[in-house]
Amino acid sequence: MRVGVEGATVARTLLVIEDDIQIRRAVKNALAGSADRIVEAASGREGLALAASWRPDLVVLDLGLPDIPGITVCREIRTWGKMPLVVLTARHAEDEKVALLDAGADDYVTKPFSTREFAARVRAQLRRALSSPIPADAVVSVGDVTIDLASRRVERAGESLHLTPIEFEILRVLASQAGRTLTHRQIFDAVWGNTAGNAHQYLRVHITNLRRKIEQDPATPRFIVTEPGVGYRFDR
Ligand code: CA
Repeated sequence: MRVGVEGATVARTLLVIEDDIQIRRAVKNALAGSADRIVEAASGREGLALAASWRPDLVVLDLGLPDIPGITVCREIRTWGKMPLVVLTARHAEDEKVALLDAGADDYVTKPFSTREFAARVRAQLRRALSSPIPADAVVSVGDVTIDLASRRVERAGESLHLTPIEFEILRVLASQAGRTLTHRQIFDAVWGNTAGNAHQYLRVHITNLRRKIEQDPATPRFIVTEPGVGYRFDR
C-alpha cells in the first residue's frame, strides 16, 4: 500500500473474486485509480489460491460463487490474512450481513451497486488499513467529543461527561475500531464477554443512553451510527 497523488491511498495489489465477468469489469473500472495491479479470480478456489500467492492489500469478494460459498472463502482468508475484505452481496438479508461481518468481512455492498459508492467504500477501507490501529491509551477526538481511553474520561466541549462503566466500554469498543461496522454480537461479546442473551436488546438501551450523553442531536446521531438489523459503527 502506498500514498498516491492527492494523498489517496493506493493498493499495490487488489484481488477481485467474482464469477460474473461484467461485474468483475465494473469493479475493475471503479477501482482503476486505487491500485497498481488488480488480480481477478472467477471462482472461490482460484480466489483462495491467488490470495495466498499475491497477498493483496484488499479483497473484493462475491458471495455467490460457483464452487464454494463466499462466506467460506472469507473465513478461510481470515485464518491467515488481515487485509480488508469487502463483500458483494446480491441479497438484502440482514442475517447474512451479520454472518459476513462475524466471519471477518469489513464491509459489504449490495448489488446492484453504484460504482461511485463502491469505490468510496473500498477507498475508506484502504485508508483504515493504512492508518495504524488506535492504541489502548490513545485520546480519540471527534468533533467536540474527546475520549481518553486510558483514564476512561469523556468530555464534550470541555465538559466532563458521566458515563456508566458499560457505556464507556461500548464507546471504547466502537471508537477503537472507528469506521468499521460491528455486529450486535461482536459488541456484546467484547463488552460483556461470552454471555448468553439478546445482544440487540441489551445494547439498544445502553446505546440510547450513550447517544443522549455524547451526541448533539441523539435522534440523528453523528458518531454512533446504526446499521439497521446489523449493528453499530463509530464514525470519526
Ligand atoms: Ca456471483
